[in-house]
This record gives sequence, C-alpha cells and structure tokens, in this order.
Amino acid sequence: MKFKELAEYFEKMENTSSRLALIDILSELFKKTPKEEIEKITYLIQGRLAPFFVPLEIGMAEKTVAQAIANAYDVTREEVLKSYQRLGDMGKVAEQLNFKSQISNLKSQLTVEEVFKILTEIANTKGGGTVEKRQKLLSDLLQNLDSTSAKHLVRIPLGNTRLGIGDPTVLDALATAKLGDKSNRKLLEGAYNRTSDLGLIAKTLWEKGLSGVEKLEVRVGSPIRSELCERLPNPEKVIEKMTEVDVQYKYDGFRVQIHKDGDNIRMFSRNLEEMTHMFPELTEAAKRQIKAKSVILDTEALAYNPESEEFLPFQETTKRRRKHGIEAMAKALPLKAFVFDILYKDGKQLLDEPLSKRVEMLKEVIREDDVLIRTKNQTVKDPKELSILLEDAISKGLEGLVVKRLESPYEAGGRNFNWVKLKRHSSGELSDTIDCVVLGYIAGKGKRTAFGAGALLVGVYDSKKDEFVTVSKIGTGLTDEEWREIHKRGDAIKVEHKPARVSSSIIPSVWIKPEIVIEVLADEITRSPVHTAGKTETEPGYALRFPRLVSFRSGDKRAEDATSVLELISLYNQQGKK
Ligand code: ATP
Repeated sequence: MKFKELAEYFEKMENTSSRLALIDILSELFKKTPKEEIEKITYLIQGRLAPFFVPLEIGMAEKTVAQAIANAYDVTREEVLKSYQRLGDMGKVAEQLNFKSQISNLKSQLTVEEVFKILTEIANTKGGGTVEKRQKLLSDLLQNLDSTSAKHLVRIPLGNTRLGIGDPTVLDALATAKLGDKSNRKLLEGAYNRTSDLGLIAKTLWEKGLSGVEKLEVRVGSPIRSELCERLPNPEKVIEKMTEVDVQYKYDGFRVQIHKDGDNIRMFSRNLEEMTHMFPELTEAAKRQIKAKSVILDTEALAYNPESEEFLPFQETTKRRRKHGIEAMAKALPLKAFVFDILYKDGKQLLDEPLSKRVEMLKEVIREDDVLIRTKNQTVKDPKELSILLEDAISKGLEGLVVKRLESPYEAGGRNFNWVKLKRHSSGELSDTIDCVVLGYIAGKGKRTAFGAGALLVGVYDSKKDEFVTVSKIGTGLTDEEWREIHKRGDAIKVEHKPARVSSSIIPSVWIKPEIVIEVLADEITRSPVHTAGKTETEPGYALRFPRLVSFRSGDKRAEDATSVLELISLYNQQGKK
C-alpha cells in the first residue's frame, strides 16, 4: 500500500465525530491491507512503530521537526514556527507548506513499508549528530510525499497523532474486516488480554486465522492486562456473595508486573508502559530473590519502612514515577514490591490455575528478603473476622483489603467478583473515589478566565461501546495551581470538534482529547437527564453530586482505565446501603 492511501484513511478518521463511522473506515482500511503490512499499519494508526509496551519512541522535539519541515520546503525555521503558533498543529503547518511548495501529488509514491522503515531508522538513531541525522531523514521523506501524507507523517515523531482510536475499536475493526462481523471478537480480546499486542494479533489473524490467535499465549516481556477489582460495601456482603475468601491488604502504590527471563528483568505498569529503568532496586531484588529462570509476578510497589511498619501515602510513592534523577530518588525513597500473584513460571502460563495454588507457588518462588515481600494472606469465611482485618488494615494506614475467590483463575483484563476491594467509608458517603477523564473546558468568568477554564467537563468510560460519556462538570475546589496544571496539559491536546469516541449532550467551549485522568470524590451519584453516562433512550444518565478533585492520575492510568459506566452503576446501587 502507498503511504498516500493510508494518509487518506487517517484524514477520514480524523474528520469523523462518530465511533461507528470510525470502525467502518478502519475496517475498510484493514480489508485492503495485505498480510505483509497489517502489523505495521496496526501500529501506525496508534501513532507508533511497536506495541505500547516497547519503548521504541521516535520522539523528536518540535524545533527539530520544524527544521526538517523548513529544509523540505525551502523556508526558514522561523517561518515554520510562526505558522505553528498560528495553527497550533505541526501537521497542518507541513500540509500548508507542502501545498505551497507545489510538490506534485504524483511524486508521492512511497509505500507504507518504506516510510515505516525510515521512521524506525529515525527512532534507532543514536549518538553524535542524532538531531541532524533525524532531521535529514524526515525532510527527505517529506520531499517525497503529498500534503495530506505530510500532515499525518509529522505528527508521528511528535507523538501527536490525532486519531484517538482506542484498542477495543481496533479489535472491532480487525474482527469486522477479517471475520465478517464481531461475533468472534471475544477471542481476539482474550489474546489481547494475554499479550497486549494489537500488531501481533492482527498479523496472526491475517496469517493463521482465528485458531492461530486463540493459541497466542502469555509471553515473558509482553505485559498481561491486569485483573482488577469489583466493589462491595461491607464485610457482610462479601461473605454473603463469596462465602470464603483469600484476604490480602490493599496497598496504595503502583501496580508493577515483574517479568524475569534469566537475568533480564523488565517491569510494566498497569497501563502497559515499560518502567524498568525507574526502579533499579526492584530489578536488583528480582535477580536476587526470584528462584526460577523465568517468571511473571503481579505486585504493588510502594515506599514502606519495615522498622516502623509504616506505609507511605500514594503521594509520596508517586514521586518515583519519573524519568530523571532516578538513582538519587531510589536512595531517598526506596520501594518495596508486595508480590500477590504469579502468572507464569519456567515456560508455563498459570492463568488458569486456581488462585489458591498460585498463592502457594509464591512461597517457593520468592526468597525471603526485604525488597520483594510476599503479600500475607489468610482464608476467611466469617464477616466479623473480615471486619477486624479491615480495621487492622486501616489502622496501618492502608487503603483497605482485597478479597479474592480461592478457586478463581487469573482473568487478564477482567473486573468482576473474583476480586473485590473493601475500603472504609462512613455512612452516606460514596465508598470510593471515581476516576474521571477530562473531556473539555467550559469558559469561565472573572478570576478563572486567567487560566481559560471555569469548569471542566468530565466523563467516565463506557467499556462496552469504547466511548467516553459525561458525568459531571467540576468547577469549585480546584486550586489555581491545579487549574494551571489542567490548562497546561489540556492546551496541548485541544481538538477542533468532538472526538469520535466521546458522547455528550453538553458542548464545552473547548474539546480536548480524552487523555487526562483525575481522581474525583463526590457525595453521591444521582440520576440526571443531562449526562450521557448510562443513559438510554428511556432512562436518564448518572451524574456526580458535589464532585471535587482529589488527584491527577494520568501517570498511572490511561483514559480507558478510568471508572467504567458499569462500576458507576454498581456504586450507585450500593450507596446508602451500609
Ligand atoms: P484504586 O483507584 O482504588 O486504587 P483502581 O481503580 O486503581 O483502584 P482497583 O481494581 O479498584 O483499581 O483495585 C485494584 C488495584 O489495587 C490494583 O490495580 C493494585 O494496584 C492494587 N492492589 C493493592 N494491593 C493489592 C492486592 N493485594 N491484590 C490486588 N491488587 C492490589
């Protein structure tokens, strides 16, 4: 396929505000894609050259890209930056300059394969003269592409493709294109939950069909999508529903999936990002303490003082999620990883083994020491005993407990009653915070206009439809500093029309790409005709009453990891029932 043709599909996808249209366009593109190119195109539509967990970033600075554009179209970098100021999008700058420079459309003959190869070369360029080499590679590409291709190409090294296609939408489109409809999509989803690699799934589907995809197993080095918790309001309800449970502390740190293959240790976050380099002390401990050649462990990492038995709050631990000054920070705030599950050992995936067996295996696999700490667990079937354990957890400064069904398999990517979190709350309040996605700003009056926002339009994630739906407007309670922060992040991802995966009856002054996740505490969930969360043709939606910002969660959560509509409804059904 010519890159030009792919760029035309990018253009169509960018211009649609409907998710269904997005699936149609994407599956039309996939239908035309031969097996040699399907993997590459699957990564490119997500603005990448490799799956999300492989840190192969093209990462070019705006100024470098501006210089490449200037060289390609024979203008000065200042001119490029000036139009960038006006247009706010380097893609459009390249499109316009290409148009003016009258590069003939006929000249745009590069294939997807060729462009992909050069982008990979740019990503792999290292050492002296990197900036110049990358600039040259990019400007040579631009000289051989038409204006639409140029627009979409330059956004890739800037990490700013604007297509906003979620992973579930890609799975829908792959299924529609190759299998005719979405009836077997669940099998694709299963493979995705085990491997987190859409390109691999697409390639396998094209080459070996559905049975090949079903056989895709967990791999050391590819993160498994995390299993998550449902909620129940109190210990009585837990025992009523689950009879007998394995009880563990709920630590409030980061989810870290540790992969060991010999001496090669890698770590992934819950949102599938590689974070090995951030935690050198965990890498060392994994080498020292794991008694197996290859292993995948599920853990929660946080700062903990074993002498005083103090767990540091999330705000402290989160200082460790950084790219610079890692060694110094590792000394000042060393982390422990509480290991609560094992998903793979020496060539065998363990997802289908019962939890009780997996937890037992941990005893043999983890050598006792003080960095990787095997999570204590206990089987409980009495609600009173569970209450006492909950109180104990709270008094230690923990969030609460996670209770798990003893016989349950590890359901990658699942959130159901196999795992349930129990937190403390006083009666009348919501039992948990809600993670919302910022969808837009509503212009403010007076003091707030200085920051360009009077209220934020926020939503939650409808996982069935792969859409973001609104639940609230948040205006009060944000400090000036927090407004500045939101504004700084939001301005960089402004878009001209409603993103295709957003469903809203409120039109904000400015739409932004659904990327910023904030943790919100509200007094209550109420029904509301204004908001689209959980709204149907006959039923009103759900909304938050008295919402206030608790923290920014974009570091560890993608927009799709925000609270889902199903969770919101389950919280609504639980409130006031304590
Ligand atoms: P919250 O915002 O309350 O932390 P969440 O939305 O991040 O919750 P949940 O599914 O509600 O995720 O809770 C599961 C999270 O709790 C896991 O992702 C993990 O990071 C953390 N956790 C802490 N201790 C445990 C444990 N013993 N077992 C499983 N998960 C644990």
